[in-house]
Amino acid sequence: MTMHAPEIEAAPWEEQAALDDTAYRAQISYLFENSAFYRQKLTEAGFPDAESVGGLSDIARLPMTEKDELRATRDEAHPIGTHLAAPMQDVVRIYSTSGTTGTPSYIPLTASDLESWVEISQRSYGASGVRPGERMVTTYNAGPFVAGVTLDAFARLGLCHIPVGAGNTERLMAAVQLLKPTVLGCTPSYALHLAEWADARGIDTAGSSVAKILVAGEPGGGEPALRQRIESAWGAKVTEAMGIGDISVSLWGECEQQAGMHFSGRGIVHAELIDPETGDPVPMTDGAEGELVYTHLRHRATPLLRFRSRDRVQVSATPCACGRTAPRVRCIGRTDDMLIVRGVNLFPTAIRQVVGEFAPHVSGVILLRPTARGVKQTPPVPLTVELAEGAVPPDDLAERIRARIRDKLIATTQVTLVPHGTLPRTDYKSKLVDWSQAG
Ligand SMILES: [Zn+2]
Repeated sequence: MTMHAPEIEAAPWEEQAALDDTAYRAQISYLFENSAFYRQKLTEAGFPDAESVGGLSDIARLPMTEKDELRATRDEAHPIGTHLAAPMQDVVRIYSTSGTTGTPSYIPLTASDLESWVEISQRSYGASGVRPGERMVTTYNAGPFVAGVTLDAFARLGLCHIPVGAGNTERLMAAVQLLKPTVLGCTPSYALHLAEWADARGIDTAGSSVAKILVAGEPGGGEPALRQRIESAWGAKVTEAMGIGDISVSLWGECEQQAGMHFSGRGIVHAELIDPETGDPVPMTDGAEGELVYTHLRHRATPLLRFRSRDRVQVSATPCACGRTAPRVRCIGRTDDMLIVRGVNLFPTAIRQVVGEFAPHVSGVILLRPTARGVKQTPPVPLTVELAEGAVPPDDLAERIRARIRDKLIATTQVTLVPHGTLPRTDYKSKLVDWSQAG
């Protein structure tokens, strides 16, 4: 097994915080000197200078940063926001977020920021076991978005990258059949859609050249049922990666042991776990759950401090046979997608995972259809479950799904079964909640 940066990736994890402390203190000084946003925010929180902030062991005393706060500082004079901390002459690239509403957020990078991100992405994608000379076909519409940095990383890893973009399944399948790549990179939803598409046309994806599928862009690649479906449809091994636009691409990357994504940002980004309700720190020990919060350690353009990711994860910290010592995570879901049913948190991805246990009766595609706007929902929550192709389900399937969700997630749903192919497929991120019925 190869490692992109073994001197970093295999170093004892217990030493990481001490190593990061120096970089962190320098980053805090940089913020006071260059970031109008943090000078004001930290001063208002009672930290008038870098000395008062102290070191990494005191980080939990500092306020967290929310995405909305950054957005609120944007105006014509500050198109990026007042957290821009480097002169624009030093910026070599500006990405934007895919932002579902309104104006996009811009994410500028200096040359050294870009170099850091490419390094992180090389560690992360390197973990999946890709080798120099392998051909990799991808369907990321990476152009304007931070995922574009992975393209630099693929080249550095010595991969032969074949970008085909999203939205053209025939072009992708032609590339697979003619160029015989061993690696496919896409979202988990699309990997599944491709397998169904090929199946309907008699194309044997399981017998194709593809042996590794690297998924990213949405949670799901770590859900056992979904992963198993993709792996058997393609006869390939699935590993996943996860990043976050404002902090870095590919911050977490799964190794060939397939037991979660290792933290790949060591020395460049500091990751914390918090209780999303109270904001209290949660130690990153084996089995711990919480929201990831990130701090840049050596960023220049728009460095962030304790940035709330809204990603809920579960940590694995047992030794990994690959030799990487950083903890691993699985994404449980995004806080932004979460519903609250009678005081219980309900993640659509968790529902999909439970429904997936009913394979081969179900296709794995689901849609929640809340009847009220907002996070809080009154039970039962309407849930549409798609059957597998040609499935002859038992009469009580809907009732069994409802009961299993109730047992495992403590939420009451009203399950409607629909034939295969009824729910929409996507070549990017899947939609798990449909708000059109909400009054
Ligand atoms: Zn590993």
